[in-house]
Amino acid sequence: MEIPFLDLRTQYLELKEEIDYAVAKVLNSGWYILGKECNEFESEFKKYLVDDNEGYVIGVNSGTDALKLSLLAAGVGHGDEVITVANTAIPTATAICSIGAIPVFCDVDPKTWLINPDLIEASITRKTKCIIPVHLYGAACNLEPLLNVAQRYGLSVIEDVAQATGADYLGRKCGTIGDFGAFSFYPSKNLGANGDGGAVFVRKSAQRDLLRMLRNYGQSSRYSADIQGGENSRLDEIQAAILRIKLRHLNRWNKKRFELSRYYREGFKVSGLDLSLQEEYKGTSSANHLFVVKSNRDIRDRLIHKMSERGIQTLIHYPYPLYLQPAFKRYIRIKNESSEELCASILSLPFHQYLRLDEIDYVIKTMRECINEI
Ligand SMILES: *Cc1c(COP(=O)(O)O)cnc(C)c1O
Repeated sequence: MEIPFLDLRTQYLELKEEIDYAVAKVLNSGWYILGKECNEFESEFKKYLVDDNEGYVIGVNSGTDALKLSLLAAGVGHGDEVITVANTAIPTATAICSIGAIPVFCDVDPKTWLINPDLIEASITRKTKCIIPVHLYGAACNLEPLLNVAQRYGLSVIEDVAQATGADYLGRKCGTIGDFGAFSFYPSKNLGANGDGGAVFVRKSAQRDLLRMLRNYGQSSRYSADIQGGENSRLDEIQAAILRIKLRHLNRWNKKRFELSRYYREGFKVSGLDLSLQEEYKGTSSANHLFVVKSNRDIRDRLIHKMSERGIQTLIHYPYPLYLQPAFKRYIRIKNESSEELCASILSLPFHQYLRLDEIDYVIKTMRECINEI
């Protein structure tokens, strides 16, 4: 059996009629940037996140830009330090470095694989301005102690919620709890566009106004250049129209992800395999973006190879801590033992909302056979 890691085409085919119609409608409207679809998506997504509570969504061009513009809006600049983790997607650090700020890597909790709030204080210096917790694989970070530290030191908090659209933290949606929530609509994300897209969530209208300028050359209105440091980073009308359709299915898809992830977990429990899985903090529920297992560093690479020989595609999210990557190695300060251990021993199994139970059975069975052979 061939089991690809991901299946984005099926998602398109499920909604083909609606999506094709919406795209044609935008094309026919003659209005392609910052129009009705983007406005409507922003208010519908805001409603999804916080219902009628105060808050604003600003559509931007990508998750990377959502982080970058949030940093700018938070007043982070050249030489300022931003605390985040080393086991995350490259764009978390790309965004920090793009404005001349310095990423400082804090180790993770070995059980939840997420930023360890107890270690943050030790990473703070006079230059620290901001913390970016990453809700990795869809699981919610332990925000309360993190927010306490941030408050004590006057730091802003930008949630990197690229992988966790729909995750909950103590009854609230991730991305709405820090000062900024940076969302990505990269095609493979839980809410994915058919191209690039992203959004920032903020609670205050002053921040909303600032972000609207930052995404649009620094203009408050046409031909009025109000602030420096603006970008061209807009969520285009076609992607916004598609996202409006997909948003209506997000809860159902996330529920499916939850069920499939539970099925995987049960399957591993009875398989007796010596693997560990990501634990969730109490009171949180993951958006189950990826299904990642931790094997061990002696067998991980051989396991991946053997599984691929049998048609099962796996990936590693992520193979290196960021401070060992050429682009970021100048930022190394301390070794993050838990992050490094994860990078060397994890693998991500095929996972998406259209995966069938018999495919999961096959993945687990194959994995058992491959481990026995090693
Ligand atoms: C996908 C992702 C991003 C970047 O999103 P883009 O839309 O691809 O720019 C940032 N952080 C994390 C953790 C991600 O997974």
